[in-house]
Amino acid sequence: MVRDVDRRQVYCAEDLSAESTILVLRRPLGELQAVVDLVLQSVWWNANSVVVPAAISVSINRSELRSCWQPGARRISLSPNGADLSTMCHELAHAAVTDFPPPGGAPQPDHGLHFRCLHVAIRHVVLGQQCGDDLAEVYDQFGLGSRSINPAQAGPTPWANPALDPANYHAEWRTVPGAPIVAGELRNAAGAIAL
Ligand SMILES: [Zn+2]
Repeated sequence: MVRDVDRRQVYCAEDLSAESTILVLRRPLGELQAVVDLVLQSVWWNANSVVVPAAISVSINRSELRSCWQPGARRISLSPNGADLSTMCHELAHAAVTDFPPPGGAPQPDHGLHFRCLHVAIRHVVLGQQCGDDLAEVYDQFGLGSRSINPAQAGPTPWANPALDPANYHAEWRTVPGAPIVAGELRNAAGAIAL
């Protein structure tokens, strides 16, 4: 087991980079599942996966805080408080680690360099270049690498055909068509960063 020293910093970088974007809007399960399906069908995922991508299901658990990737069941299990694109991208990055092993095959920490590179790429695939680049920039500010690309990932650019329209990335939540959001539902709207 490799010690996961960067975990807390990764959570902070993720929350900081997602503030004031549609990543933090709470979403119906069906919408999150539809985005996962699109990511799995993307040229990027299929070019990088060492296996034929099997379906990934998304479910809501009863935990207040805990969301996780369950590789055996190929399931993303989201806390009711984590039913948003930010958390889903994080768990999809863990799924990507399962399907795209790290270069050289050496074990890496759960939130190590390989995870972070894939986390940035998943944000690119979901919402376009700016969304992923913003995360990479915050990782840089935290002294966490995320830009080295494994040779197996040198294929299609992950932001070539995003699952969601990048024009909505910074959309103020009230203006997002169909956003099922009420005031106060922004996840970690205050006090997310506690370094
Ligand atoms: Zn994680």
